[in-house]
Amino acid sequence: MELLKEKIRKEGKIKEGNVLKVDSFLNHQMDVELFSEIGKEFAGRFAKDQVNKILTIEASGIGIACVAAQSFHVPVVFAKKTQTKNIAGDVYTTKVQSYTHGRIYDIIVAKEFLGKGDRVLLIDDFLANGKALEGLIALVEEAGAELVGAGIVIEKGFQTGGDMLRKKGIRVESLAIVESMDEATGQIVFRENGRSTG
Ligand code: 5GP
Repeated sequence: MELLKEKIRKEGKIKEGNVLKVDSFLNHQMDVELFSEIGKEFAGRFAKDQVNKILTIEASGIGIACVAAQSFHVPVVFAKKTQTKNIAGDVYTTKVQSYTHGRIYDIIVAKEFLGKGDRVLLIDDFLANGKALEGLIALVEEAGAELVGAGIVIEKGFQTGGDMLRKKGIRVESLAIVESMDEATGQIVFRENGRSTG
């Protein structure tokens, strides 16, 4: 998606630890008009998949998932991060390792909001090593729902998540795939054909 790549080139900042900061339009201040274009792009790519629910993870996925949901006309469920030691009862739960903090935390979704018969599209802002998506996939499986695929705004193609998920046959649609980024020069190179299917 050219508009998005242009925005990343202009405003993206490369930080230590292979972190790309896009706080000016995605992760802090949010460019809602760009989000709207991103939502339409996801809706086009998954138009034939009868998505009836979008699943994301708090916090940074929520904004983009909500705007995308307006193009799909479906509700958004976000997996909550929780510190609670004894999680039991009416929730699906799994563990996820945070890319930016390194910590492992529990995520939960209430059973009443995800179940058999749901056709679920995962949406997230970034794909790095795939831990967040793996966690969401585990919740979808636990719920007996059907996974349609994942829509990602920015994939870091030089990290392992995208390949790992596609090898498992999961359809991952990333709107911008960063092939390499150089902290010293600030140069960001994108993969040319950003469209990939599992
Ligand atoms: P993964 O679980 O695929 O390793 O990492 C994805 C999650 O970590 C995303 O939900 C995102 O919040 C965060 N993340 C990973 N890499 C980056 C990055 O380069 N920049 C930002 N802003 N977030 C990232």
